Amino acid sequence: MDKIKFATVWLAGCSGCHMSFLDLDEFLIDLAGLVDVVFSPVGTDLKEYPEGVDVCLVEGAIANEENLELALEIRRKTKTLISFGDCAVTANVPAMRNMMGNKTAEPVLERGYIELADENPHFPNAPGIVPELLDRVLPVHEVIPIDIFMPGCPPSADRIRATLEPLLQGKTPEMVGREMIKFG
Ligand code: SF4
Repeated sequence: MDKIKFATVWLAGCSGCHMSFLDLDEFLIDLAGLVDVVFSPVGTDLKEYPEGVDVCLVEGAIANEENLELALEIRRKTKTLISFGDCAVTANVPAMRNMMGNKTAEPVLERGYIELADENPHFPNAPGIVPELLDRVLPVHEVIPIDIFMPGCPPSADRIRATLEPLLQGKTPEMVGREMIKFG
């Protein structure tokens, strides 16, 4: 039987959701026997998101042009996309700047790189290297359709396992009840 092509993606998040994924401990060994990890910031150095991915966990909100482009690409190339953690599901912490209004990129850069600079205040300017901030931070489903929502900040390892196990058997996980869909 072909192994499931499995990926994880890190957008605008703190990587805490990926750290929780590593808390799967011995289940990671089972998982390694059942899936081919074809893209992930954890344990791989793969640069290109491949075609034909079966399952992908997407951590983080969409805060810049790079996040936006990658989100569109992974949607095109993935069968089952899981919005992984509160930042992906609601935009959560990265979206705190949205409280400043609809045009937040410039004030955020002004504060970080000019007002708070100890020396040499200037905006980062490296086209193609430093991605442009979007004016508002978006939850992933506002940009691309999502198949499964797994909230949590971060989702517990038990919740991650309970979501992945049915998918590995070709079934749809039941995202109901406090254990599966409580935020925070
Ligand atoms: S949901 Fe929480 S743990 Fe996950 S990336 Fe966001 S802040 Fe970090």
